[in-house]
Amino acid sequence: MSRNVAVIGAGPAGLIAAHELRLEGHKVVVFEQQKQVGGTWVYTPQTESDPLGVDPVRNTVHSSLYHSLRTNLPREAMGFRVYPFRVNDSEKRDGRRFPGHREVLEYLTEFANEFEIVELVRFETQVVHVGMVMEPDGGSSTKNWRVRSKSKSTPRKRDYSHSDDEMNEEEFVEIDEIYDAVVVCVGHYKEPRVAQIQGIDVWPGKQMHSHNYRIPEPFRDQVVVLIGASMSAADISREIAAVTKQVHIAIRSVDTTRRSTAPSIRPGYDNTWLHYSMIERVHEDGSVVFEDGTVIFAHTIIHCTGYEYHFPFLETNGIVSVDDSRVGPLYKHIFPPYLAPSLSFVGIPWKLPPFPFFELQSKWIAGVLSNRIQLPTAEEMMKDVESFYSKYEISGLPKRLSTIIGLV
Ligand code: FAD
Repeated sequence: MSRNVAVIGAGPAGLIAAHELRLEGHKVVVFEQQKQVGGTWVYTPQTESDPLGVDPVRNTVHSSLYHSLRTNLPREAMGFRVYPFRVNDSEKRDGRRFPGHREVLEYLTEFANEFEIVELVRFETQVVHVGMVMEPDGGSSTKNWRVRSKSKSTPRKRDYSHSDDEMNEEEFVEIDEIYDAVVVCVGHYKEPRVAQIQGIDVWPGKQMHSHNYRIPEPFRDQVVVLIGASMSAADISREIAAVTKQVHIAIRSVDTTRRSTAPSIRPGYDNTWLHYSMIERVHEDGSVVFEDGTVIFAHTIIHCTGYEYHFPFLETNGIVSVDDSRVGPLYKHIFPPYLAPSLSFVGIPWKLPPFPFFELQSKWIAGVLSNRIQLPTAEEMMKDVESFYSKYEISGLPKRLSTIIGLV
């Protein structure tokens, strides 16, 4: 059975989803708000108007990549199985096993061209609403979805002789369409999660989220505090240590015996301290007090505290929600039991090799949509999700970790 499918996003997940869906015989439209494919891998030096990323009306930037970023997976684990990420012999290309971000974008662009996926993409088109189609009796259908999108249009030919400004005026066209299925592939490294800090309103320093970090130069000669112990904190702290006066990293340690210990100097660095404690509070005089008792005077705090899942366009009457970074209920992190298979998500889990994983998820969705593969009943899927959630409760793990596969 062939369906009309809307794929939202032309990052790695959307590209491979579009490919697999078309291979299965579906009719696919990919909506992409940016001008090109690649999603996160489209690096931009631009940052957001609110560096902390909390102002709801800030101008937003999709990618969180920093200028120097190299992959943290070897290229063998960063390709789709159908199109391995091989070393390109061209002199201009980055042949390293852990290549820089430009090489990944090249790879994705080549994949989209080679498999003619690019022809399915409506660029500069943002999906602003996805909702269930209402039945004539007022009930909602779980079979079809209304997708409203906003595209930048080419300015109409008109008489511009009166004003130069008018020529630059952006025009948007809204389109309302019905699809048999929607596959959400919008990524989850864009909406910052920030730490709450006592006294921050009167603290005179600057705050930002790692989403808006690009290069080390702005931090020259500064004392910088980073909050977080994951990949961005590790990368950014190492990079800025070369130009800053001091770097302090606040790490939330699961080992409670470490929390009261004094900060330790990071091996191999003479200006970086590891605090196995959070910031207790900050003061008007610029001081930052750690739970370990240390007091320092800092210029900037960088929140390397991760991201929230965010689907501002999606209206499911509460059937799918985000609760403490748990997106659910989703059967195997893909299908909402009571809306499957017409609504699905690619790319929700993290801490795994994303590209090959997206490919397997997409194959499953494509096969289910054509009825080649059967899902369990909605009740059976719901039972499976509930049993998964109860394992989290029993083990005492927070909900927000339920998108890491294999913890329970
Ligand atoms: P994205 O790449 O984020 O793409 C989502 C797309 O959806 C974007 O193009 C966006 O414009 C579009 N979109 C969003 N909302 C809408 C809308 N409403 N309408 C239309 N279009 C929309 N992964 C690795 O494999 N290796 C690494 O080394 C690695 N390093 C990383 C480093 C950093 C700093 C970050 C932030 C991530 C890193 N990742 C890495 C993970 C990376 O996010 C994934 O590789 C991959 O880009 C996720 O793909 P995606 O398609 O799910 O999301």
